[in-house]
Amino acid sequence: MQEIRFGKIVFIPGPGGGRYPFCNSLYIDDEVRAVIDPGSDEGQLRMLQEKGPVRKVIQSHYHEDHGSFGCLFPNAELCVHKSETPCYQGIDKVLEYYGLRGTEYEDVWRNLLLRRFNYKVRKPTCELQDGDLVRFGETTMRVIHTPGHSIGHCCFYFPDEGVLYLGDLDMTRFGPWYGDRVSDIDSTIESVRKLMNIPARFFVSAHETGVIEGDIKALAEEYIAVIEEREKKLIAFLDRPRTLDEIVSQWIVYKKPREPRHFFEFGERALMVKHIERLEKRGLLKQERMKYSLV
Ligand SMILES: [Zn+2]
Repeated sequence: MQEIRFGKIVFIPGPGGGRYPFCNSLYIDDEVRAVIDPGSDEGQLRMLQEKGPVRKVIQSHYHEDHGSFGCLFPNAELCVHKSETPCYQGIDKVLEYYGLRGTEYEDVWRNLLLRRFNYKVRKPTCELQDGDLVRFGETTMRVIHTPGHSIGHCCFYFPDEGVLYLGDLDMTRFGPWYGDRVSDIDSTIESVRKLMNIPARFFVSAHETGVIEGDIKALAEEYIAVIEEREKKLIAFLDRPRTLDEIVSQWIVYKKPREPRHFFEFGERALMVKHIERLEKRGLLKQERMKYSLV
């Protein structure tokens, strides 16, 4: 396959088009060699390290599928958004951020993070903040904090090459994820709108859609419209008081029952809870005797 390159920025697709449990990475082939989101192709990432030291590993956010192969670069600086620093210093923090602590899925997730995603405690050595400029040599990158998907999610803009790395604001037809304990629906929408105003020509998604060329506005509108579609379906189902289990059994997000439960049932519940909280905050929904109904 032909390499996709923008100046010194190289696109490294993950297996299966970067579908979970993988992602797509970017490699900056400049004076300061760097990898963004080392969760793509283990063989290619290993080759980079063999060619010479990779000096920086930059994480768009802490989710496990974006860092599986970070352990290939033990001597690189680890750059993460400051709000997610704790997630690299102990697995319990990851589980806490996800809202998995104390749930029936905690143990299976702990094992997955350790064995499948190579979780290792590692102290971030540089903290990213919105507006930071990172220089690699000829290549300069601007950090854009885009919370919502996760609290510290960042996108990365390379103004000279016109490239914007979207991370997990991935513009897929599935729509956005905002199910972490510290995720937020309205911040997700705000973050996508922020991206629409960036004058990039190439948009690189961490999953599936890969490299998108041209105007992203229509795609971004469709992407956030999925949020309102989910909410409309929830409202329609609340034609009488319903328990959270009943709501989850509708599979509004994933469309049909899917296995494994620790992934899909957990995700469906997490996203529905966010919609319930959003409707409650707007005074449109109330809870009585463990049942939710419209006001
Ligand atoms: Zn993610």
